[in-house]
Amino acid sequence: MSTTPDVGHRTRWDVIVVGAGAGGMSTAIFAARRGARVLVVDAAAEEGGALHIATGQLSAAGTRLQRSKGIEDTPEAHLADIMRISRNTADRELAWLAVSNAAATVDWLLDDLGMPVLPDHPVRGQNHEHYSQDRYYWGPDLGRSILTAVRAPFRELIDSGAITALFNTEVIGLTQEPAATGGRVTGIITRPTGATTANHDTHRGTNLVLATGGYNADPALFEKMNGVPAYADASYRYAKGAGHQLGVEAGGYTRNHDLYLCSFGSVLDHDAFPAPVLCRPIHWPEMRMPWEIYVNVEGRRFIAEDEPSVDVREHALLRQTDLRRYIVLDERMLREAPPMIPDWTADDVRARAGHHPMFHVADDLRTLATSAGIDADNLVATVAEYNACLDGDDPLGRTFRPLPITEAPFYAIRVQGMSITSTAGLAVDTDLRVIRPDGTPIPGLYALGELLGSGAFMGNSFCGGMLATPALTFGRLLGTGILAW
Ligand SMILES: Cc1cc2nc3c(=O)[nH]c(=O)nc-3n(C[C@H](O)[C@H](O)[C@H](O)COP(=O)(O)OP(=O)(O)OC[C@H]3O[C@@H](n4cnc5c(N)ncnc54)[C@H](O)[C@@H]3O)c2cc1C
Repeated sequence: MSTTPDVGHRTRWDVIVVGAGAGGMSTAIFAARRGARVLVVDAAAEEGGALHIATGQLSAAGTRLQRSKGIEDTPEAHLADIMRISRNTADRELAWLAVSNAAATVDWLLDDLGMPVLPDHPVRGQNHEHYSQDRYYWGPDLGRSILTAVRAPFRELIDSGAITALFNTEVIGLTQEPAATGGRVTGIITRPTGATTANHDTHRGTNLVLATGGYNADPALFEKMNGVPAYADASYRYAKGAGHQLGVEAGGYTRNHDLYLCSFGSVLDHDAFPAPVLCRPIHWPEMRMPWEIYVNVEGRRFIAEDEPSVDVREHALLRQTDLRRYIVLDERMLREAPPMIPDWTADDVRARAGHHPMFHVADDLRTLATSAGIDADNLVATVAEYNACLDGDDPLGRTFRPLPITEAPFYAIRVQGMSITSTAGLAVDTDLRVIRPDGTPIPGLYALGELLGSGAFMGNSFCGGMLATPALTFGRLLGTGILAW
């Protein structure tokens, strides 16, 4: 989609959507179908946003697919799971708005748009804390399965002229009436993406919908929002927090900064953060029981490695120095245990050990610790204690302990807790109107999608499907009913 349509600047759009990811496309499709004149502006060369790289897990209760498989489920049960998993830190009202409308979104994707899902789906969970019911779906092509489905009607509406799309165009400001007359947002200021010239355009509209996604691709903003560095470079490149900035400049505010949670970690490619992900060691006991031990920078174990709750493991890592852990093992474990890194053999680990900054090897534990940056005295003591307890009770309650750590060489693999989505988000009410700190809505300004932050939908936990599904759902709600023109 490289052509730039000739946009009449005197047009007053019914709906202007900033961002053509899951949330923006969905808003534009449903608003255009309802007869709105819609302008969509995206900084990228094509639509899709994070769906190009996302896993694309969706979650919804009460779908036609569930019913066809005899699964009884309700949005109330979905919400109860979210509040249980998040320990009541999710925003109950926004989460309810999302889950009580999610089934219609998934029905639209699967039945109307023909999105395929994996044959055994829905499932109860994978990667994240499990739901109490099978309500978790994704397609064979991950996020791109959603993109392919939603892109079809989106492009049809562009071709028919119902949606006008400007790509390679970034929104750098909003136009707004003075606060004294209500502060209504009236339009956007754009320029070609990345341009530094004063070559700006202005587009006017009745409703302005911010759907610009997260902020993970801006390391400085990430650290400001989350209080931890952006360790991983694994986010959509245009997720730079533009909507957060635009919304705040218009009088809104961001919230849920205190709800940051990291994953249980990946091995990064190098030490200069943010760094790409090299591999993701399996830490889910339901997929592979851990033979190794995990220690922190201080050389101490901090969790029973076979702890079944991924949420408990993630929160334990969140408390460790630099959100970092080391997988420590010996040569016999490497030889006899099932592969710990998907698609890697033991020889793949050996080949990197001592040559890659995240893979360390030594003939004794003290040298290993020094090489890896772990407290040496503590690591020696921790391994001795682990070995001594194999026939008795583990101090941390671990039960699966097949081997001691005794056979040189010894290995330490550095794993970094990280996140690929944005926790804090722009504050909105349940009509998705951007609100000021005093709770009053800014007239004409709406927001949805990851711009609202994962904290709103999942609190300080990870609940499967609770970003992509709400983004699509809120777009449908805005387009079919909330927006007026
Ligand atoms: C690796 C990965 C895996 C994920 N897996 C899952 C999952 O399994 N389940 C789940 O629910 N969620 C998942 N997510 C999150 C989910 O995919 C996103 O939250 C969701 O797709 C975001 O949709 P969005 O429309 O809000 O934003 P985006 O998809 O980020 O779209 C925002 C759009 O706005 C554009 N934009 C940004 N700034 C500007 C500007 N100034 N001017 C104009 N345009 C701009 C961008 O180019 C982009 O197209 C994952 C995310 C990642 C990165």
